[in-house]
Amino acid sequence: MRPVSLHPLFASLDTLSGIGPKLLRPFARLFARENPRVIDLLLHMPTQFVDRRARPTIAEAIPDTEVTLEVHVDGHQSPPSGSRAPHRTYVSDATGDLVVVHFKMERARLEHMLPEGSTRWLCGKISLYDGMRQMTHPDRVLDAAGLARLPPVEQVYPLVEGLPAGTLRRAMAGALERVPELPEWIPDTVAAAPDWPAFRDALTRLHRPATPAEAVPTGAPWRRLAFDELFAHQLTLALVRAREEKAGGRATIGDGRIAQRILAALPFALTGAQQQALAAIRADLAAETRMLRLLQGDVGSGKTVVALLAAATAMEAGRQAALMAPTEILARQHVETIAPLAEAAGITVAVLTGREKGKTRAALLADIAAGRIDLVVGTHALIQDDVAFHDLALAVVDEQHRFGVEQRLALARKGPGVDMLVMTATPIPRTLVLTLFGDMDSSELREKPPGRQEVDTRALPMERLDDVVAAVGRALAKGAQAYWICPLVEESETSDLTSVTERFDSLKAHFGTKVDVVHGRMSGSAKDAAMARFAAGETRLLVSTTVIEVGVNVPNATLMVIEHAERFGLAQLHQLRGRVGRGEKASTCLLLYRGPLSETAKSRLAILRESQDGFRLAEEDLRLRGEGDVLGTRQSGMPGFRVARMEFHGAEAEAARTAAAAIIRTDPDLSGPAAEALHTLLHLYEKDAAVRLLSAG
Ligand code: ADP
Ligand code: MG
Repeated sequence: MRPVSLHPLFASLDTLSGIGPKLLRPFARLFARENPRVIDLLLHMPTQFVDRRARPTIAEAIPDTEVTLEVHVDGHQSPPSGSRAPHRTYVSDATGDLVVVHFKMERARLEHMLPEGSTRWLCGKISLYDGMRQMTHPDRVLDAAGLARLPPVEQVYPLVEGLPAGTLRRAMAGALERVPELPEWIPDTVAAAPDWPAFRDALTRLHRPATPAEAVPTGAPWRRLAFDELFAHQLTLALVRAREEKAGGRATIGDGRIAQRILAALPFALTGAQQQALAAIRADLAAETRMLRLLQGDVGSGKTVVALLAAATAMEAGRQAALMAPTEILARQHVETIAPLAEAAGITVAVLTGREKGKTRAALLADIAAGRIDLVVGTHALIQDDVAFHDLALAVVDEQHRFGVEQRLALARKGPGVDMLVMTATPIPRTLVLTLFGDMDSSELREKPPGRQEVDTRALPMERLDDVVAAVGRALAKGAQAYWICPLVEESETSDLTSVTERFDSLKAHFGTKVDVVHGRMSGSAKDAAMARFAAGETRLLVSTTVIEVGVNVPNATLMVIEHAERFGLAQLHQLRGRVGRGEKASTCLLLYRGPLSETAKSRLAILRESQDGFRLAEEDLRLRGEGDVLGTRQSGMPGFRVARMEFHGAEAEAARTAAAAIIRTDPDLSGPAAEALHTLLHLYEKDAAVRLLSAG
């Protein structure tokens, strides 16, 4: 049971004043959860901060830097009705004039905000336009009372459409008032702990920093909260591990006859990396202990084949295997790879996703329970309560970061001492494997299957957009397909990025009906349908945010355009690029950037052009980010973590692992003097798996 002290944090967000049911919807989208709660807002981390302490005069204000200007409002000028021109407000101080520009806003509202003859304070950036200083859509327009409340340093948060920055800030202020004092769960043994604020204080100082130093991931408030999150995670892993070890495993030993038939049916030989991974997996399966192994490899490195051969061992021993993927489309893709091989090898494979319903599903479940099916490939549908196996020996989880520990355990519970293989196409630097997974074994497929073409990668400035569109046209004319990736428009309030829908509109106007779009605001089934149309070749150009699946395989897609490439992390660019270059034909990736590029952005694009090795890129990415390049951190934040950022919180991760291990050693059921505090922490971070293990005794 959740401790009473946490109830205010888990209350629905609409219990905050000013948040009604209508506002709940954009918050739900922002947090990607149906019932947004106070805690979700408190753990919504900023991406940038604005230093509001600079108070120059108009003449002193440097273009494109954040300033707060004290101005006199001289007058208003509305555009003629029907015109798209902006509303202009003329303001000045003793040193000069400034035009404040607002598009699509009513005159009455602006006159109310900026009454003629009054003094107001404007927060934002000025620019020079036709020799005139102007400020377009100030972040803030304040009167004297508002100025008195203006924080010295202001955090900037990711937003979604329908959720203005001001609304989020007001909600955050309300949420901070709800934060209770909680018992301290950080053990005294953690060396940095004395420098960290208490939980409640840390949240307040992170969201309302007094100085830039407190606002950033390397500041004490953020470090403390990152430690908390990592500590809760490590405690959970340690508890799960301890239990799995207690439960014991089984030896699953095959005779190689099914594997031989699969190998004979393969039109290629295994790479050395695949053979090594397979040997390690077979040794794990043969051991009496439970396997928990990570199989890492770029998209297309041949993980599915390894998983199938691992499953063969289970079947040779007369047992079953299951392969769980995060989406319908990925599950079906695995089946496509596996089906012909399975047929040749005489194994029965079935698919179980949300799409199997009624009688079909019932018949399928009966076959699985009776052992008439050797290998079941599916989605979350696999872990539903009524799915029972005859004798499950091996569970494979693809794109494991898309699943929680709890879901992994649920699959493992479907058989006695199930061996677990988790796969990921997101290469994780070795230093992070421990953090993310605890003491898990790891195999890497660094070597690509032979014959893979490198993707010809080029960087082009935005000014060459027309050339890029022409290149897309040539590719389409040759019968190829192409992806066009845009960053999210709603990432930040100051963002000037092209929205995916605008780009879709303009490309559709140019190329016609063969263009389609996928983005995060579409429903899951609409996204799947658009992906399926593209995979089937019905559409030829897919405009998309980064939501398109990492594992999606469309060999005919040979061109990828990535807009605002400078905003993406290296690892992510590589991931995106991995969606082309999957067939026989030469592929190209065009990185469109908007200059001027920072030094880090330059090295990032250069490394990407040079290397196609996901592991090297992941390590470089971490290094570059560690050098303080914060842009784009959100997109490549650690999967499953809201607060912790690997490039900044490596020390906290290590401290959390050590502290968790020490606790589980001396107090394995968390019943010692720290029990209350630790239970509170696990509930706070919703470590259901840990909570369940503890309550089961
Ligand atoms: P992943 O799951 O790692 O993305 P897959 O297992 O789907 O990769 O493999 C991608 C493609 O490469 C498949 O078409 C597969 O048949 C092929 N492939 C796998 N291993 C090899 C190999 N050793 N040599 C040649 N092709 C391979
Ligand atoms: Mg795959």
